[in-house]
Amino acid sequence: MNEEIENILTNKKIKPTAVRILVLKELLSQSKAINLFELEKKFEKVERTTLFRTLRTFVQNNLIHEIDDGTRAAKYALCDDDCTCKIDDLHLHFFCTRCKKTFCLRENNIPTIQLPDNFLVETASFVVKGICNQCNS
Ligand SMILES: [Zn+2]
Ligand SMILES: [Zn+2]
Repeated sequence: MNEEIENILTNKKIKPTAVRILVLKELLSQSKAINLFELEKKFEKVERTTLFRTLRTFVQNNLIHEIDDGTRAAKYALCDDDCTCKIDDLHLHFFCTRCKKTFCLRENNIPTIQLPDNFLVETASFVVKGICNQCNS
């Protein structure tokens, strides 16, 4: 298992360290996006700054993507293997207004946006809000 995780890290050119392996394991076990505070609760012995830096490294190496779902804290979820985190690779997200969980809608690429002349896109976050399958059952 750890070997598999180390491979994922090295494939994304990230040096496997103990903390990085722990954090990636946690991300792999999630079906939803998680934020820094949730991560902190899971790993109380690890410094917040270390966890934060780990997330930054993962984002910079296209292992995870950051999601702005309108809540105060950014959430993070794993990218697809071939993700380059360019606008074309971005997908929609779903925010459940009951349980406040955020999910990747990987099948739904963000739509092509027609911008006026001389407007440049930097990032785009498309969040669909509603009730998730667990809250709906
Ligand atoms: Zn829900
Ligand atoms: Zn996503």
